[in-house]
This record gives sequence, C-alpha cells and structure tokens, in this order.
Amino acid sequence: MIMSRTIDTLLEESRSFPPSPEFAARANVNDPGIYSEALRDPQAFWAKWADSLHWFQRWHTVLEWNLPDAKWFVGGKLNACYNCIDRHVEAGNALRTAFIWEGEPGDSRTITYGEILIEVSKIANALKELGVQHGDRVCIYMPMVPELAMTMLACARIGAAHSVVFGGFSADSLQERINDAEAKVLITADGGWRRGGVVPLKKIVDQALDLGCPSIERVLVLERAGAPGTITNGLATPEYDRGAWQEGRDVRWADIVSRQSDVCDCEPMDSEDLLFILYTSGSTGKPKGIVHTTGGYLTGVAATTKWVFDLKDDDVFWCTADCGWVTGHSYVVYGPLANGAQVVIYEGAPDAPDKDRFWRIVERHGVTVLYTAPTAIRTFMKWGDAYPKRCDLSSLRLLGSVGEPINPEAWMWYHEVIGGGRCPIVDTWWQTETGSILITPLPGITTTKPGSATQPFPAIRAAIIDEAGNDVTPVQGALGYYSCASGSDAPTTGPAVGGYLAILDPWPSMTRGIWRDPERFFDVYWKRFPGRYFPGDGAKVDHEGYFWLLGRVDDVMLVAGHNISTMEVESALVDHHAVAEAAVIGKSHDVKGQAIAAFVIIRSEIRYESDGLIAELKAHCAAKIGAIARPDDVIITAELPKTRSGKIMRRLLRDVAEGRALGDTTTLADPAVVNALREKYESEEG
Ligand code: ATP
Ligand code: MG
Repeated sequence: MIMSRTIDTLLEESRSFPPSPEFAARANVNDPGIYSEALRDPQAFWAKWADSLHWFQRWHTVLEWNLPDAKWFVGGKLNACYNCIDRHVEAGNALRTAFIWEGEPGDSRTITYGEILIEVSKIANALKELGVQHGDRVCIYMPMVPELAMTMLACARIGAAHSVVFGGFSADSLQERINDAEAKVLITADGGWRRGGVVPLKKIVDQALDLGCPSIERVLVLERAGAPGTITNGLATPEYDRGAWQEGRDVRWADIVSRQSDVCDCEPMDSEDLLFILYTSGSTGKPKGIVHTTGGYLTGVAATTKWVFDLKDDDVFWCTADCGWVTGHSYVVYGPLANGAQVVIYEGAPDAPDKDRFWRIVERHGVTVLYTAPTAIRTFMKWGDAYPKRCDLSSLRLLGSVGEPINPEAWMWYHEVIGGGRCPIVDTWWQTETGSILITPLPGITTTKPGSATQPFPAIRAAIIDEAGNDVTPVQGALGYYSCASGSDAPTTGPAVGGYLAILDPWPSMTRGIWRDPERFFDVYWKRFPGRYFPGDGAKVDHEGYFWLLGRVDDVMLVAGHNISTMEVESALVDHHAVAEAAVIGKSHDVKGQAIAAFVIIRSEIRYESDGLIAELKAHCAAKIGAIARPDDVIITAELPKTRSGKIMRRLLRDVAEGRALGDTTTLADPAVVNALREKYESEEG
C-alpha cells in the first residue's frame, strides 16, 4: 500500500500524564539531559552500558558499520549466561530470587540465582553429552516452565544458538523452523497445561519429525504434564497423547540432566557470535529467521530493562509474554536477569481457572511492574472490571504495553482499572528485528499521552519519511534532542505529520540479518530508504515530537484519495462504550479505491440490537474522525483472527472481505475463526 499523501486524520487525543513528583524522584533516570548527552556521542553512551556487563576481554572498537552489516563491541569476549547468572552469584546474591513461577494448575516454584546456576550448568552439560557444540543450533519447543528459560541460558552458556518455537505452533510450522535453522537437538516436554487441557507437545514434535527434519539427532523431553491421571496441585492431568517414544533418538530429561555435574564453564563468546535465531510472528507473511548476536543484544536489553522499567532490587517484574516471542527473550530472560531482577513466569491461560488469574498472580506475588500486550488488555476490558476489582493490585507501580498500537481507550482502562490511576504506562515500540525497545517513555521523565509510544530511547534517532524518501519529521522532540533534517521546511507547530517510520543510526541490539538470507534482509529493511532502517511501520509525529505508531504500512487504507490508518478507525470504534475490540481493513472499491470494513467485538456486559448498534458505530467513526472514515460495513463478531502472539491478522480479513482464497494461515492461533467470519461476512454483506 502506498502512502501517497501524509496521513491526515488525527484522533483528538489531548489527555496527558506527567510522571508524579514522587515517582520521578525515585526513578533510575529522571534527568532529561541524558537525551542530549546520549545524542552528542551515541557510541560513548552505548559503550557505558556495555561496560556495565562482564567481559572476559574488552572490545577494541565500539562499532564497525557497513550498511546493512553492524558489528558492535568488536574484539570483545563475553558470555550472556555468565552475565545473567554467574556474576550475580559471585557478587554474593546466590540466595536472591530469580524466578517466581506458577503453573496453570496452581503449582509454584521459587528459584534463586544460586539454584539457577546449578540447574543451568547441568542442562548445559547434558546438551554437551547430546553432542551440542559451540555454533550449533538447538530448537526449543516447550511450555512456559522455568526449564524453558534455563534451557535458553544453557545454550548460551556453551555457545550454541537457540531457536525457540512457541508451543502453540503446529507440526508444520515447527518443522519449517527446525529445517530453516538446521537445528541439531530439539528440546521439548511431554505436554504443557493450557486452559485446563494439555497441549501434547511431544506428540506434535513426533509429527514434525515424521514430516522430515534431517538435521535433528536427539530429542530431549522434560516431563511436565505427566501421564494422564497425574495429580498436580489437586488437578488430575486429563487424557492426552504423549506421542511415541523412540529409543536412541528420544532422551528423558530426568535420565540425563540430574546425573550431570553442576559445574560447567561459560564459553567465552565473541561479541558478534550468534546468540539466537527467532522467527517473527508472521503478521505480514512468511516468518523471517531473525538473527541476534551476543554483545550488542545484551547491552541493548540490559539498558532498556533498567531505564524503561525503572527496575530496582525490590521489584517483582512480570512480563507476560511467552519465551516463544522476542518479548519473552528480551524481557523475561536476558534483560531482567542481566539486571539481577526477580522475574514472575506463568505457564497458562489468563482465564484458567477464572478470568481473574492475572490479577490473582499480581496479588499473590506482589508484582510491581507488569508488562503485557494490548490484545490482552482489550480482552480484559471485554471481560469486565469485576475481575481485577476483586483483587488487590496495590503493589503495582509501573505498567507496560507492547505488540501493537494501544488504543487510547484501552490505555485509559489500563491506567485506571489496573493501575489505579497511579502507575505510569510505558507503551514500548520495537520488533523482533530491533532486539530491544526503541521508542518508549522513560517513566521518570516523559509525560505520556494515551496511544503514543512517545519518543525514541536515548541515542536512538527515529524519523518520519515521505514517499520520496525525505525526512519530514516536523519538530524537535519535546525533550529537545531531535533536530529535523536540515533544509526541511516542515512546520514546527500545527498538526501531526505522518509517513513511514525510519531509524536513522545503527543500535547495538539490531538484528544482524535474516538467517541465511542476506538478500531478503537488504530488500525488506534497507532498500526502500537508502541509509536508513525501515521497520515496515507507519507513524506520525505531533507538534511536540511525540511518535504515534499506526501499525504496518500494509495496513494503511487509501479511501477516496485519503490515507487513513486502520489503527485510527479501530481506536474510534473502541472509544464507543459498547466495543471491546475492533479490526479495520480497506477492501477494494470501484469508486473510492478502498472502502472501510470493520469487524467488532462487543463488551460482554452490553445488551444490544445489531442494526441500531451498527448504525451508531458508523456514525461514531464519522463523528470522531470525519465522514471519510465512516465504515461501509460493520460486522459484529465474537472473535478476530490473530497470530499466536495475539496480533490481529488484517491481511486475512482483507482476504475475507474481498472473497479471496486465504493467504498463509500457519501462524494463525485458531483457523476456525476466519472460516466463521467468512460465512458471517458473506451472509451479511448481500
Ligand atoms: P512479521 O514481521 O512476521 O509480520 P510481526 O511484525 O508481527 O511479524 P514482531 O516482531 O513480533 O512480529 O512484531 C513487531 C511489530 O509489532 C512492529 O513492527 C509493530 O508493527 C508492532 N508493535 C510492537 N510494539 C508496538 C507498539 N508499542 N506500538 C505500535 N506497534 C507496535
Ligand atoms: Mg514485523
């Protein structure tokens, strides 16, 4: 989709929330001067963060940059696992809590840094016994149990790269990812608990291997769900298929890990050695095997965790993402542990056994910082306020959001109902490719605005680029650190300017490429705007230099010559009291180019008559944005097609609305949803 004009609709979002003086006073960073300081010498800024890590050998050059190839901390040697565990133990913190884990049945474990060191060393030695060496790839397909995080760290310890595949993926998707990475060993579990049932992971692994995975030599299997009938915290494991054991290939965790030595030296890794490969979530097409290396990645996640989440020793940090996604890599495992944090991990669904599960966890463990996704927040809104209201959420002091643009109404709900009006919200924009957060508030400094990810992290320069490749970023950031491109005649006051988001300089945690596909890497991210990184997202910047992310540029609609972002119409719909969630797409239209079709989910407590409500919703969009944004079709639905990480897959909705065969559906969470929508759409449209 072409952004031939700047986006000219603008939600009138005028609410703003400065940090409270008490929060700012205690914050890890509260001096706005750090922005200009970082920009004066970005390499010195990053080198200072890298110096906060442990290096076996210090680097000699901070950055070698030959677009698109970045090398950070060249010549340095370090180990990510050593930085996440050993150095905390050596500093006398062996008894400090690292993980507070809850299984879905309510079983729980608290694991200290000292215990993790022992367990990770044993897993690492077991991997060595299975033939894993420095440079090999290990595929991990596990439920959210502590062993998942510890296995990632064990790989890092011995210099093997992990490729974690989310436990909700099918055998086909697993096979595709194993083969692309040419993984040598696959680590899985018998099954993981999910919404009262068991996901038969080992069985799916068997299916994937039957489809053909020539690189896999051994399969290591953790017993998690146990045989049907096993009692966990009073709950019996239901019937499920445990797969077929294959002697010689399959190895029981209990048989190999427990008998290992608890000493395993950390492999000194080159700063640019591969740490992991991770496949993107596939919202826009075939997933890409994103490559991350060691020194730069760890520097980026350590810095952002400390400043964005204002992490302190007494914090209890809960990032609800699964380790199958980049958020789980950077903000469940590497970033928090590099900072010695106390991390909550939860295995199961947010509505098991009831829709208050998240809030029970916050209450029980005294969670202070909660980081979750807009899709979850909108689901909680749909379920109603009663669930969070019956729990004590007073331990919370900071909230975060990631994954999609957060609609202002969902932001306000999060702020009021979950944060009790007192917690700053950090809406963090980043991607699998960026490795760590790039656009975000700093909670002790930034005045937030609902729906805006605010400003680039210190030392990052982001810009708005027009179709012709010009930097049209309208103003200096509110914090006074960004100057627009010289010669730009963009206004310094007035409405927001929209276009393509670009990142102007390399940063340490940036991806080093798509696994074994340098051409695709260059074409996707570097070709469109020479010299700048193009993430594929649209954004606008307002007169105070705040960034408002608009989603992927593929999702921008061109209606009668106007660019309208799907996100803005969705936010207008969610602003209506009856709507919990909305997905908007442009479908081809003879006269207008594209016409707007909206799919909406109604809040569970609302009673309605659909014709009346549909007319009201159309009028509401017109009133909020303008007549141009009135949807032609509004379809009320119970579900939306989402990726397994919970992002709305608008490309499939476009296929439905335009009556086409569906594109790649392998990353879809529930394929039945699109078929149901297709039937409903076809019956209502006519
Ligand atoms: P694929 O690249 O395979 O289509 P994906 O882009 O969904 O998948 P991720 O890397 O998990 O895979 O998601 C990154 C994208 O999520 C960003 O490019 C952006 O579109 C969106 N995103 C993440 N955080 C935010 C945020 N705070 N505000 C707006 N959008 C966000
Ligand atoms: Mg992407």
